[in-house]
Amino acid sequence: MRIVFLGTASSKPTTDRNVSSIALHYRGDIVLFDCGEGTQRQMVRRVKQSRISKICVTHFHGDHYLGIPGLLMTMSLNGRRRPLYIYGPPGTATFLSHLLHSGYMDVGFDVRVEEVYDTMIPCKGYSIRVFPVDHGVPAVGYAFIEDTRRGTFDRKKAHEFGIHGEMFAELEKKGEITVDGTKVTLQDVTGPPKKGKIVTYSGDTRPVSFPPETKGSSVLIHEATFISPEDRDGTYHSTVKEACEAARSMEAPLLVLTHLNSRYEPEQLQRAADEHCDDAVVAYDFLEIEI
Ligand SMILES: [Zn+2]
Repeated sequence: MRIVFLGTASSKPTTDRNVSSIALHYRGDIVLFDCGEGTQRQMVRRVKQSRISKICVTHFHGDHYLGIPGLLMTMSLNGRRRPLYIYGPPGTATFLSHLLHSGYMDVGFDVRVEEVYDTMIPCKGYSIRVFPVDHGVPAVGYAFIEDTRRGTFDRKKAHEFGIHGEMFAELEKKGEITVDGTKVTLQDVTGPPKKGKIVTYSGDTRPVSFPPETKGSSVLIHEATFISPEDRDGTYHSTVKEACEAARSMEAPLLVLTHLNSRYEPEQLQRAADEHCDDAVVAYDFLEIEI
């Protein structure tokens, strides 16, 4: 699983940062979380847009979705035919309909829009937990949850059961095999199942409690728009300290801070993170994390 940060600025682009977008690569598939203006330009040479199967929008503030029409146009020009799924909070269908009818846009593939709020989206090999957050407008966060994986295959044990040659393929396919009258199941010859990895993305929010499924996330990507609570000035955003507390509450070993305010230098943010967290990284555009 590889996470590529395509935009890490809050509100507006700067010389070093574009607005919000994160591409999560998983087995040849890409799930894009948010798609601020200029996201497709950020993708060049780093993210194959043809592989994007889903765009998960956290909310409809401009810096999180205005890159969608341009990206869709490019996908269409590149001959995309397979459908694209777009998820977002209540209101998404109306907003996207406006976007897609805002000019002579001719998208040559199906755009399947689904409004989500507090639910689980089952996908192949993983699910996406959608949960409400607190941002003053309909807004959600997302957790990418990999399915539990089969334990490691124990070849020695399999041999002891008398399994050899083509019998492996049969066992793999049917989940069980009979050897000299004895039934051997796949579980008999594999170790304990491995818990899948979890990547949680907060989107824009004031501190909230995250759903239980996010417990034990491998990575929490949390917005940290402010350092001091005074700077927040009534807006629906979080501070570095609050992001650290969220990471602690879900026992995430790694916290990545994003949606960063241009008033702070990265060093300032990192110092604040080091003060409150054991393992926090201040994101920058094109940061890649392999988990
Ligand atoms: Zn926002």
